[in-house]
Amino acid sequence: MDRLYDVVIIGAGAAGTSAALTCLSRGKAAAVVANPEETESLYKAELVSNYPGLPPMTGKELAGLFRRQLEESGAALIRGRALSVLPMGESFGVAVEDQFLMGRSVILAAGITREKLYPGEAAFLGRGVSYCATCDGMLYRGKTVAVVGGSAEARRDADFLESIGCKVLRFEKNGAYAVKGEEKASALLFEGQEYPVDGVFILKDTVSVTRLAPGLEYRNGGIVTDRHMATAVPGVFAAGDCTGKPYQLAKAVGEGNIAALSACEYVDTSSSAKHTN
Ligand SMILES: Cc1cc2nc3c(=O)[nH]c(=O)nc-3n(C[C@H](O)[C@H](O)[C@H](O)COP(=O)(O)OP(=O)(O)OC[C@H]3O[C@@H](n4cnc5c(N)ncnc54)[C@H](O)[C@@H]3O)c2cc1C
Repeated sequence: MDRLYDVVIIGAGAAGTSAALTCLSRGKAAAVVANPEETESLYKAELVSNYPGLPPMTGKELAGLFRRQLEESGAALIRGRALSVLPMGESFGVAVEDQFLMGRSVILAAGITREKLYPGEAAFLGRGVSYCATCDGMLYRGKTVAVVGGSAEARRDADFLESIGCKVLRFEKNGAYAVKGEEKASALLFEGQEYPVDGVFILKDTVSVTRLAPGLEYRNGGIVTDRHMATAVPGVFAAGDCTGKPYQLAKAVGEGNIAALSACEYVDTSSSAKHTN
């Protein structure tokens, strides 16, 4: 069976790091899905001079301190990009490239979303459009699929889909793609041509937080939470820039701390309810 963590945290920036440290101080098993440090907002800051207790320093220096503390904390660091969060009864499954983690609760700490979707991408997500070859590949065995993406990972996934018996059309160039269909996606449009397909795997470098978990609510570009950083999905919490403005380090760290305390309480309450029933 896949390892079941108390809390799976998506994002290892300021918010995710703060959340992980708090979960560990509460004695919880925490896994952090971590993209490289260079992808964090903090890394790009020329000078940070408004963080209490520390002298002014570059964002890169401060991000380095945070990352080292996280690495030494005892949290399980899962390198890669989370692709989806699936509610599975009393826990959640988190697909991270070709790995699958289980968590009793999830904290989204994935920073700001700046991604533009292709026309038809959101409409056909789960109805012919997928972001995860490992999760959905078997549904398309013996069928024709398009793989959109030019990264090494996209090529690996295209190879994988071929190996399980899909007919794979590879689209590695950047450009104006669109997905077309009725009930389900049935064609990919690119450079004036229409390619009939049964499925479209879109494998970009980033996965927008708005597509990570079904059932979240959004307002003004951020995930809606209450004061406990709880989202509309029970057991899923959010912290940092992904919850909206102001985009500030101290807010991200504070929200990470609150989200972690709430997630720990959620885990304790749901497991004691289970023992009582
Ligand atoms: C140029 C600049 C200057 C700034 N200066 C200041 C300042 O002086 N003072 C101040 O208070 N604030 C400043 N900020 C804002 C501050 O840096 C951010 O508010 C803060 O770092 C946000 O932290 P976060 O953890 O929410 O997000 P991020 O730091 O963006 O971290 C999110 C992490 O999650 C990762 N991620 C996203 N999706 C996934 C996924 N699917 N799977 C796995 N990982 C994922 C991202 O790659 C990233 O590493 C500045 C920001 C910028 C851009």
